[in-house]
Amino acid sequence: MAAGEEEGSAAEPEQEPAAEEQPRSFKDLGVTDVLCEACDQLGWKVPTKIQIEAIPVALQGRDVIGLAETGSGKTGAFALPILQALLETPQRLFALVLTPTRELAFQISEQFEALGSSIGVQTTVIVGGIDTMSQSLALAKKPHVIIATPGRLVDHLENTKGFNLRALKFLVMDEADRILNMDFETEVDKILKVIPRDRKTFLFSATMTKKVQKLQRAALKNPVKCAVSSKYQTVEKLQQYYIFIPSKFKDSYLVYILNELAGNSFMIFCSTCNNTQRTALLLRNLGFTAIPLHGQMSQNKRLGSLNKFKAKARSILLATDVASRGLDIPHVDVVINFDIPTHSKDYIHRVGRTARAGRSGKSITFVTQYDVELFQRIEHLIGKKLPAFPMQEEEVMMLTERVAEAQRLARMELREQGEKKRSRNDDDDTEEAIGVRNKVAGGKKKKRKA
Ligand code: AMP
Repeated sequence: MAAGEEEGSAAEPEQEPAAEEQPRSFKDLGVTDVLCEACDQLGWKVPTKIQIEAIPVALQGRDVIGLAETGSGKTGAFALPILQALLETPQRLFALVLTPTRELAFQISEQFEALGSSIGVQTTVIVGGIDTMSQSLALAKKPHVIIATPGRLVDHLENTKGFNLRALKFLVMDEADRILNMDFETEVDKILKVIPRDRKTFLFSATMTKKVQKLQRAALKNPVKCAVSSKYQTVEKLQQYYIFIPSKFKDSYLVYILNELAGNSFMIFCSTCNNTQRTALLLRNLGFTAIPLHGQMSQNKRLGSLNKFKAKARSILLATDVASRGLDIPHVDVVINFDIPTHSKDYIHRVGRTARAGRSGKSITFVTQYDVELFQRIEHLIGKKLPAFPMQEEEVMMLTERVAEAQRLARMELREQGEKKRSRNDDDDTEEAIGVRNKVAGGKKKKRKA
């Protein structure tokens, strides 16, 4: 969830030339044998792009600004040069890594430990939510590397007797855009004031926002810029967005987006058959040409739905993951994850319905208060922070009344369909059932085919 600030022009660091195409070994990058072995033991056969770009310049002693995301191998890109420098001049309280979240802090520490186990590196994680006393004791042992979230580290710098970072040789600011978006600016400033100016600094960020540029100017000296695309880079022409909304307004936001992007073909993913059916009814009640595709429909009905969609008689196809599998879904302009996928890999399948064969496409993922963790997993998998889809909240709120009425009708229709099914053991003609609202359903059963 990165802020979409623009890139400014001042104090542009020198750009590293693009790396050569052929895979290179860690040894080629200048990594010392013992650390090459550690990479090998972790199964890191060849360095990733960011490692190819950043490691040689970092080993030359330059400051680095790395535009790379989680999943790109960026932790190795800063950990290996730090460990190598530590081998050359062993020292306690040698490096500090600042990162925005506890989870990232532990992941980074695991990588330092894994890469540095054979050289006996000691790390400590200093994050909130953990008792400060045990952290003070850990700091008193003077680890080689501290991995910290800024708030708790400042707490220790101010309150833990005997602890200071006056001998620090390396500072890493990981996910700097997120650190700054989380309002850790003051803490970062405080930290910068109490560490030596004469140090090496690596700044990693997924996006180059104005705040990051400001930090770069304040904290880095003549840095080399290393920018890479991430490992799961989805096709370039796919614009992926999320919207973060309260779950009770999901329907209104859906209607808003369908209106905003009118004229496109949509595929909307729902998590259950029932919600697929309900949402299709709701949209029909609001005048959209929507058609459902789910597992409670026979294969023939599903194909029927699909054919209508393919023939462009319907512009919105609502589906569950299961129902859409194994079917030849045509290209769509916009994929909407109305219900977030519970398996993050399904996300890749879903958004793959658009931006095919060089065409462009959009995907919008609805994230409610209950979905944050799942969404973070998706971002981790694709190695990308998604931008928020721009919306006018007031306009969405103006829709709520009409949507509430359509919801009420949809619930009624769903109930009627259920009753009809039970009483006639009817295998449900979905299109027909949708027409119940119009009170003309009685005479429309003739179309049903096997
Ligand atoms: P990061 O972007 O640093 O969070 O790393 C993402 C994942 O990639 C981690 O699980 C690393 O262990 C792994 N990784 C980092 N470098 C390499 C590499 N050169 N080859 C294979 N996997 C790697």
